[in-house]
Amino acid sequence: MRAIGPIDFRDRSWVPHSGWPFGHEALHGYYREAFKLFQVGAPDQARTEWQAIHPVMKAVEGDNLSLGFWSIDNVGDRFAVPRLGDVLSHPQCRVLIHATATNLSLASDGQSISRVNLRDVSGKSATVTAQHVILALGGIENARLLLASNDVAANGIGNGHDQVGRYFMEHPHARGGKIVGPGALPLLRALGRRRTINGTIHAPLLRLSQSAQERMGALNSALTLGLRRPEAASTATIAALALRMGDHFGRFQG
Ligand SMILES: Cc1cc2nc3c(=O)[nH]c(=O)nc-3n(C[C@H](O)[C@H](O)[C@H](O)COP(=O)(O)OP(=O)(O)OC[C@H]3O[C@@H](n4cnc5c(N)ncnc54)[C@H](O)[C@@H]3O)c2cc1C
Repeated sequence: MRAIGPIDFRDRSWVPHSGWPFGHEALHGYYREAFKLFQVGAPDQARTEWQAIHPVMKAVEGDNLSLGFWSIDNVGDRFAVPRLGDVLSHPQCRVLIHATATNLSLASDGQSISRVNLRDVSGKSATVTAQHVILALGGIENARLLLASNDVAANGIGNGHDQVGRYFMEHPHARGGKIVGPGALPLLRALGRRRTINGTIHAPLLRLSQSAQERMGALNSALTLGLRRPEAASTATIAALALRMGDHFGRFQG
């Protein structure tokens, strides 16, 4: 996991429709809590140690690039029922599982939600009424449910100007290039492997700095380095061996 950076919230002249209604500082405290709750060390704690282990980072980091990390959470069933005791036993919570919200019924004046319609896989249905309804289905499903609820509002709820779902964001992944030559190995050692620091697994990445994004009119982005097997398999074997040898390789080089 990573915290979304300050620039992602900003109104950027080179990114149409950019700018959130609140800034990074509004989420900062929640991110801190989330890292604590997940018992995952915040990425920035890894930075100093990483730079000390991999001096090559000093040459790489500068005006354009900076070192960042993913903190890896290895708990696979984090949100499964056995871990949700606090919610299940809460006196004011009633948890319905296998209950998919299929439609929101709007009151006839179109101003409030009169009920949430639910269905399970066998076709059994139910309705929930509440004073306040909060949609927390995730970025895609929130929009889908609002759009599917079109019995009173023909375009879907809140979609008078076709704006529901319009600002969906994805982070596309692509291969961006290759680094060859002897300089690639120290870089690969520094950026090609995860490392456990203070009990948390960290995966390194290089980020395009905020100032570089401003200068270049670029979007936020990051790159990771990985070993690819070239046509000459022997080269790959040597590189893989060097990577496995990890920290010891530096000693043998000299
Ligand atoms: C692989 C991956 C890595 C990510 N890493 C990061 C990161 O490092 N940092 C970061 O800030 N963000 C990250 N994100 C984004 C982040 O996970 C989401 O922004 C966040 O989880 C959204 O939370 P949410 O509670 O709104 O929705 P979700 O976490 O998506 O929860 C929605 C829940 O609603 C349920 N649901 C959906 N439809 C219905 C329905 N019709 N009826 C009933 N229930 C329904 C779903 O099953 C799900 O349990 C990542 C996302 C992915 C996929």
